[in-house]
Amino acid sequence: MSIYRNLVILDGLLWRTRSAVLLLACVGIGSFAASETFAFVSNGRWAFTAGGGATGLVGAPTTLTWSLVPDGTVIPGSGTSDLLAFLDANFDGDGGDIQSKSWFADLIKPTFDRWTEISGMTFRYEENDDGATFGNFNGQVGVRGDVRVGGVFLDGPGGTDAQAGFIPNADITIDTGDPSFFSDPANDFRNLRNTLMHEIGHSLGLAHLDSTADFLLEPTYNSSIDGVQLDDIRGVQQLYGDRYERDEIGPRPNNSLDSATFLGQLSVGESLSVGMDAGASTIVTAEQSDFVSVANLNDVDYYTFDVETVGKIDVLLTPTGPNYFEKPSGPGAFSLTRSSQLSDLQFELYGPQVGGGTGLLTTADAASIGLPESLFDFPLTLPGEYSVKVLGSTNIVQLYQLSVSLSELDADFDSDGDTDGGDFLFWQRGLDVLFAEKDLEVWQTAYGAAPVSSAVITVPEPLAVDLAAFMLLGLGILRKAQS
Ligand SMILES: [Zn+2]
Repeated sequence: MSIYRNLVILDGLLWRTRSAVLLLACVGIGSFAASETFAFVSNGRWAFTAGGGATGLVGAPTTLTWSLVPDGTVIPGSGTSDLLAFLDANFDGDGGDIQSKSWFADLIKPTFDRWTEISGMTFRYEENDDGATFGNFNGQVGVRGDVRVGGVFLDGPGGTDAQAGFIPNADITIDTGDPSFFSDPANDFRNLRNTLMHEIGHSLGLAHLDSTADFLLEPTYNSSIDGVQLDDIRGVQQLYGDRYERDEIGPRPNNSLDSATFLGQLSVGESLSVGMDAGASTIVTAEQSDFVSVANLNDVDYYTFDVETVGKIDVLLTPTGPNYFEKPSGPGAFSLTRSSQLSDLQFELYGPQVGGGTGLLTTADAASIGLPESLFDFPLTLPGEYSVKVLGSTNIVQLYQLSVSLSELDADFDSDGDTDGGDFLFWQRGLDVLFAEKDLEVWQTAYGAAPVSSAVITVPEPLAVDLAAFMLLGLGILRKAQS
């Protein structure tokens, strides 16, 4: 059996105390330390990084750099690093420059990139490392990474595969005394990838937990999983937010309309969605990366989409996540985590206003915690950019799925289940502000041969008048006169 080891604290009880205190300090709420029902265990997050400076509040995205120490770098208590020679000897070491070696491009770098892919953390490779004594120096741009990786003989085959210190001394040591374990090519060198990915989890602030499911941050190596699993993703998103809290450049929280995540163009008959890889399973495959969450009360998520042809929109916001048993690694009883019921989500829909600008159209917050919020057949009456804002109710991360879909406008403008004069009045009063000519045609067609009150049909038809009158209606002037 192989285990992963933390450098600094090995005692489970001490570990648990430390994590509870720090989480309270960071997250700022006073009651969840006792029950531990939020799963993943954290001992805090990076407050300052070479790559990103001050990192802000818990849940905010940030940038971390990582580097490979040159062979000969002192690893206190263990010797000097021989990682580069180890990697060259056990994997393809062709090519002069480190970044052109296949073990770098195909194994080491993708392992860091995987954490970037599923969180608001942006990992950047720092190609320089000055060989300063391991664990003792902070990252510095152009000098060394925030997280440095080295290797040394720890205990040979079996036992400890690797170890990592805690933030800010979060350097990672690979046991280069166990080449047969790391060079095992099974499942695309899963032994090496899972081990390094686990240690990176520590370097980000995640600690060991025990679970009845299979998670990467469990202390014992598990070859049945491929990288981060659902609880690991929840943990890193609690600390650094989800992938849409940054763009390709780096941190860019989608906490406002101006920095909303663009989902695309929403056409009639089509849907847009986000967060769809999070479901009721604890298992995550290496191909899955679509996980989004509200991290805490400081976090809201804005998504925008373009609507060129008006229609009726459905919005569905579903809190997601499986149930599983977990505890901080060590003694103690398991607790049940219901990971879809940790924050009561709600959403707001924004869109273009008649007089110009963007405004709140409606809110959905009726469903209780753990249940989807929904909006059905809500008419979008003007083409333009629409937005959904997602909010949570607690300081615990909540994964969710969000989908929006657009259907053709029918003539039931007032959504009362039928097509009658009431729909025309609805349209006419501008409550729905349907300007497009075809919308009235929709009603006329649907209303068919049924008698139409002349009082209704003979009012000035905005579509027949010129643009000026059209705009007057838009400004609410004609509307007022007619009602
Ligand atoms: Zn570990």
